[in-house]
Amino acid sequence: MRACTVAPGHPDTAGVEEIAEPSAELGEVLVEGLLVGVCGTDVEITSAGYGWPPPGHKRIVLFHESLGRVLEAPVGSDLTAGDLVVGIVRRPDPEPCLPCSQGQWDFCRNGGYTERGIKELDGFGSQRWRAPAKYLVKLDASVGDVGVLSEPTSVVAKAWDYVERLGGRAPWQPKRVLVTGAGPIGLLAAMIGVQKGYDVHVVDRVTDGLKPRLVAQLGATYHSKPATELGLLPDVAIECTGVGSVVFDLMTSLAPDGVLCLTGISSGKHALDVDESAINKQLVLTNGIVFGSVNAARRHYEQAAAYLHTADRQWLEQLITRRVPMQSWPQALERSDGDVKVVVDLLA
Ligand SMILES: [Zn+2]
Ligand SMILES: [Zn+2]
Repeated sequence: MRACTVAPGHPDTAGVEEIAEPSAELGEVLVEGLLVGVCGTDVEITSAGYGWPPPGHKRIVLFHESLGRVLEAPVGSDLTAGDLVVGIVRRPDPEPCLPCSQGQWDFCRNGGYTERGIKELDGFGSQRWRAPAKYLVKLDASVGDVGVLSEPTSVVAKAWDYVERLGGRAPWQPKRVLVTGAGPIGLLAAMIGVQKGYDVHVVDRVTDGLKPRLVAQLGATYHSKPATELGLLPDVAIECTGVGSVVFDLMTSLAPDGVLCLTGISSGKHALDVDESAINKQLVLTNGIVFGSVNAARRHYEQAAAYLHTADRQWLEQLITRRVPMQSWPQALERSDGDVKVVVDLLA
């Protein structure tokens, strides 16, 4: 069968390779790969050498954002042939640490976890793949192709989960939400905020085009000015740019008892001129919470499936701005203006 493979850090090796069918020991459920989504991690693996191939291999099957259809599942499992599924990316470390031992590999403490398509496990960029049923989440059949957004949606489902848990430390009725960055993560965070009934505002640099339109279609408010100039005093801020200056500006822009969740990372190395004492004072005197969030547990994939099922299908379809056939998948890593989510079609 064909697979999208690359030796991390060697973009010249990125291509389609014939590899063996997935062996039964990889999991009792056999899945036909339909689509995979591309994100910054895939670019980093290919060009910058992030990522680890499976032990004994030079190349890794790329991609961790999956959509597949079950071909074979054991009798008695919750899955049957024809079901639409997403594969869970992270697996617990073998030790396992305390969070991993309780199904919360997203909080792994020793870094010994593995991740499909990123760390020591082949990804989902192949015509067929296998997984144990406990690492697959069933999607509603009506979700269709936008089911490929399940993994990025699971990441923001987790962010929202902990925003509400942490904010709930005291009586709290958040109303206004600010999302920075209108990429796929920011737009999905805004989508969930709207579903929860909040007054959602999204900030990005672009002044026109698809991103402002998508925000408006959600019923949220788009701004192209820096968050500090808006005077919004959000109860919740979800930061999706990873830009240091944006992160620090948000720390002093929250309403009392506010919660700021950081989901982005950037490679920039700029020394920032920040007033640390003022930031500290503001956070202390307003009970401010700032926390980071990465990855997702199984329940967040299940929440993601529900959020996608509830969302407007036509709105979600617009997030997929480019489809690249498997044969030319390296083109999917090239950024072009107007891209929101690029996907690779494993059937084309
Ligand atoms: Zn990703
Ligand atoms: Zn662990």
